[in-house]
Amino acid sequence: MLKDQDRIFTNIYGMHDRSLKGALARGHWDGTAGIIKKGRDWVVDQMKASGLRGRGGAGFPTGLKWSFMPKESDGRPAYLVINADESEPGTCKDREIMRHDPHTLIEGALIAAFAMNAHASYIYIRGEYIREREALQAAIDECYDAGLLGKNACKSGWDFDLYIAHGAGAYICGEETALLESLEGKKGMPRMKPPFPAGAGLYGCPTTVNNVESIAVVPTILRRGPEWFAGFGRPNNAGTKLFAISGHVNNPCVVEEAMSISFEELIDKHCGGIRGGWSNLKAVIPGGSSVRMVPGKVMHEEGIMDFDWLGSQNSGLGTAAVIVMDQSVDVIKAVWRLAKFYKHESCGQCTPCREGTGWMMRVMERLVTGEAEIEEIDMLLSVTKQVEGHTICALGDAAAWPIQGLVAHFRDEIEDRIRARQRGATFAAE
Ligand code: SF4
Repeated sequence: MLKDQDRIFTNIYGMHDRSLKGALARGHWDGTAGIIKKGRDWVVDQMKASGLRGRGGAGFPTGLKWSFMPKESDGRPAYLVINADESEPGTCKDREIMRHDPHTLIEGALIAAFAMNAHASYIYIRGEYIREREALQAAIDECYDAGLLGKNACKSGWDFDLYIAHGAGAYICGEETALLESLEGKKGMPRMKPPFPAGAGLYGCPTTVNNVESIAVVPTILRRGPEWFAGFGRPNNAGTKLFAISGHVNNPCVVEEAMSISFEELIDKHCGGIRGGWSNLKAVIPGGSSVRMVPGKVMHEEGIMDFDWLGSQNSGLGTAAVIVMDQSVDVIKAVWRLAKFYKHESCGQCTPCREGTGWMMRVMERLVTGEAEIEEIDMLLSVTKQVEGHTICALGDAAAWPIQGLVAHFRDEIEDRIRARQRGATFAAE
């Protein structure tokens, strides 16, 4: 289990003073100017050496992403945009940072922006996060008053302004280019890539979009050294990580743990075990609703909570939002509900997603009630493959994968229901 002295987030539960005074007492904003004075290349190299992979879902190496920003400005400003949209169902980790430990994020924003030559940064926060926005804004105001932001921020010699932009609650605005469109005041619709944001992002200027947690861990990594951070987790899966565990565990929680912790240890140590015991575990969606589910037995006996192991199971760590489902769950209905969500959130600009999400949802609804033919299962699977990888953004994949996971692991249950329906049994979708 991760030791308390190795926790980056020391106020994740809001038990201590979240103001600047409290943050300073817990060691934040310590030597920030000194870190910046070591230079951009030093910061980027340290981040690369730490092995940090983005915490927003895709897991792209953070230091490498920063290095894509132009070394010299061609006259255009550069921007750091922080993705605080956190709309993936099951995911509720960044909100804890913003409302209880906001100074980790603000200090991280200053350092990261410096490393990418940006004098301004925007935090795009999810529409429903009203209290979180207020807490974050209060912390930003404190920093301006204390000289930690603004001209010569933190006496580092770097001018830096940090703004909050409040979204309107659309899931698709968590996609980085849709987020940039929304920030520019347009409809949140993903852009075709290339160009990538590092070349032409916000207002056509070089931009890096990072997740809240990815930025909030930066100051501690630089203070304690990349070797310290890289010392947690298996190779290629470095660091500590916030896990958000919901569903049928005895104590759902958000907890910081070392990467590559076993699923069994994570659940037993932090969540008081599975409701009704391990034999009652049916399935787990380990990384937010868009990844494929993994059968409970496999998670219990072999589960390692990191990018590589979950990837090897045809699933993913995603946002590390772990949705635990016990035997009481109708998994077909659960996946139908997710299909309904993705259909609702599709922005509609590409045909496979716009038509496919509705089509998949309607077939899923009939699988819930059993009013389908067995052959339709393969037809549904074939449609998921036609959506997956054929769209502008990853929402198409996100809609396809939960269904693929369901069919891969619970095809028997779907078939049993269709046969039961044919024998006269009834099942309700709502
Ligand atoms: Fe919009 Fe869906 Fe296409 Fe993404 S995949 S751009 S959400 S229609």
